[in-house]
Amino acid sequence: MTMKVPYLNLPAQFSDPELFPAIEKVFTTCGFVNGPEVEDFEKAFAAECGTKFGMGVNSGTDALFLVLKALGVRENHEVITVSNSFVATAGAIAATGARPVFVDVNSQYLMDPEKIEAAITSSTIAIVPVHITGNPADMVRINAIAEKYGLHVIEDAAQAIGADISGKRVGSFGVAGCFSLHPLKNVTVAGDGGMVVTDSGQLNEKIRRLRNHGLIGRNDVAHFGYNSRLDTIQAIVGAHKLAGMEKVTQKRKENAALYDELLSPLEDYITIPERNKDANQVFHTYVVRVQDREGLIRYLARNNVETKIHYPVPIHLMQPCRKAGWKPGDLPQTEKQMKEILSLPIHQHLTREEISYVADCVKAFYKDAV
Ligand SMILES: *Cc1c(COP(=O)(O)O)cnc(C)c1O
Repeated sequence: MTMKVPYLNLPAQFSDPELFPAIEKVFTTCGFVNGPEVEDFEKAFAAECGTKFGMGVNSGTDALFLVLKALGVRENHEVITVSNSFVATAGAIAATGARPVFVDVNSQYLMDPEKIEAAITSSTIAIVPVHITGNPADMVRINAIAEKYGLHVIEDAAQAIGADISGKRVGSFGVAGCFSLHPLKNVTVAGDGGMVVTDSGQLNEKIRRLRNHGLIGRNDVAHFGYNSRLDTIQAIVGAHKLAGMEKVTQKRKENAALYDELLSPLEDYITIPERNKDANQVFHTYVVRVQDREGLIRYLARNNVETKIHYPVPIHLMQPCRKAGWKPGDLPQTEKQMKEILSLPIHQHLTREEISYVADCVKAFYKDAV
């Protein structure tokens, strides 16, 4: 039996007929910017994360950038993060003028708490762990280290909406949590969008000002700021998607469990994602480590199964970081994983048959290989 399994099915994700009447209404009110729907969405999002405040912004990247700016991060500061993320994590840090400092990751692709203390200097101001793949980083240990050294913790939760540790949602562990609502994420808008969540009233006010030029009232600014608001139409889409989050998460977890079951007999060739006992992972991606990755990718592509690599180039080996002195060998785990990782299709519109087909193709490849 042959099938076609694309990595994503965005048309299915956006084919919901209920969405359009709600959007259409905005063309009558014309409250395209700062409409009341934005605040409704912010409140719903914060409630979902278990935080006091939510602030809609332009993108996940801006969510990170504005939090760092609001905390006073600037030139001559260092911010500790990981290299196996989307480039925006480090890009947002660098955009403040600060230096991203990368630490290595553990076997779950997450910031290794053991590596943090050695990276702290007198210039360190913050730690930005990334809940990569939708799996929460070890926030208990990271927060303990941050507290010991007086550092801010900002969670890059772009891939992890709805994930939790012992029932406490990601985004609520640090001083702020940053989310992306890009169409590729688990909860999305129809374009770019992001959200900051926090319990800090001060941070909430600062970011609300920063995203709106620094304006206080109509004709004066407390300080100069940016234009990084979430459009009303996007907030409507986001609220709609947020209401469907549990279903999406549930389906992705079922897909992951099915892959686990079907792929675990191949443990000599393929390493399935590790699970944390206390963590609830939401499987933004299903990342395995495989032997003969290029061969497998080609074989799967020939059988109409699309895969991805998240991410093929670690940030510390991209041009600006190389210029700053980072080099191969600096992060051994990150670099080793980068050569072996592969993301299998995991999205919420896959059927059991499609997942079985992917697993059968993987099996067939390694059977032919031995
Ligand atoms: C997607 C993503 C971002 C950036 O979000 P945008 O909304 O695309 O700006 C940042 N960090 C991680 C880990 C991401 O996956």
